[in-house]
Amino acid sequence: TLKLAGRTAFVTGAGSGMGRAISRRFAAEGANVVAVDLNAETAAETAAAINAEGGASVSAGADVRDREQVAAAVQVGLDAFGGYTTLVNNAGIFDNQAPLLETDDALWERVIGVNLLSAYVVTKAVLPHIIAAGGGTVISTASVASFVAGSGGAAYTTSKHGILGFTKQLALDYAPHNVRANAICPGAIDTGLTRPFWEADPASLELFSAVPAKRVGEADDIARLALFLASDDSSFIYGTGVVIDGGFLLT
Ligand code: NAD
Repeated sequence: TLKLAGRTAFVTGAGSGMGRAISRRFAAEGANVVAVDLNAETAAETAAAINAEGGASVSAGADVRDREQVAAAVQVGLDAFGGYTTLVNNAGIFDNQAPLLETDDALWERVIGVNLLSAYVVTKAVLPHIIAAGGGTVISTASVASFVAGSGGAAYTTSKHGILGFTKQLALDYAPHNVRANAICPGAIDTGLTRPFWEADPASLELFSAVPAKRVGEADDIARLALFLASDDSSFIYGTGVVIDGGFLLT
């Protein structure tokens, strides 16, 4: 039987990398998928791929920092599928490793905005629908940078630590509504986010592959974990950050 039959998921950052892989895997397990991205075209490509595979998906372009754009995207999914059971806060950026004194206000606001404020904005828009549906799951993409310094700059590390705290409080506060919140904490994964760094500096790819698993991760490694956390297979897991890093944090 399909693990997400009858569910509807709102997935952000769905036009690329992990968000696209999560969207496709959720749809393959029976979920309706609302694919949302800043880039409306790539979000539409994700939805088209799902529909071509026999799944059910609609898409919307939205900046996850923008309440009005997010509300409009939520409405697209409501019109198509009638409600929500599942949210994946996945959109994020990683475009610098600047320490604090090299971080200006614009950089801080951009990274904290896309990676952390977004969880506040999007969850506030979707959670009432999940509660109205009788419960469901919220999954947020954090990072190994939720636990250690050095994997990002000041703003990135702060944003990903924040996502973990957000997830824990959400899990505690909404468990009575039958909502489970958890985070995914990836190490180095081959996506549109990391490719430019590795192509500019191939030695860094070798460095990132030198984990116990002896490879960088694939987007579908993350999608399989997201499926587990979204399905009833994980029904006793609340408010945790699952590390999925090929063993990076062990070294
Ligand atoms: P990606 O760049 O392939 O995909 C991210 C998507 O988010 C893109 O399609 C982009 O257009 C979208 N996006 C960016 N800003 C947005 C905004 N303001 N509003 C809506 N959408 C926006 O990256 P990915 O590697 O798949 O990253 C997904 C998540 O995983 C991010 O939160 C990232 O921080 C996290 N992460 C990635 C890695 C890695 O190694 N790739 C490691 C740890 C955590």
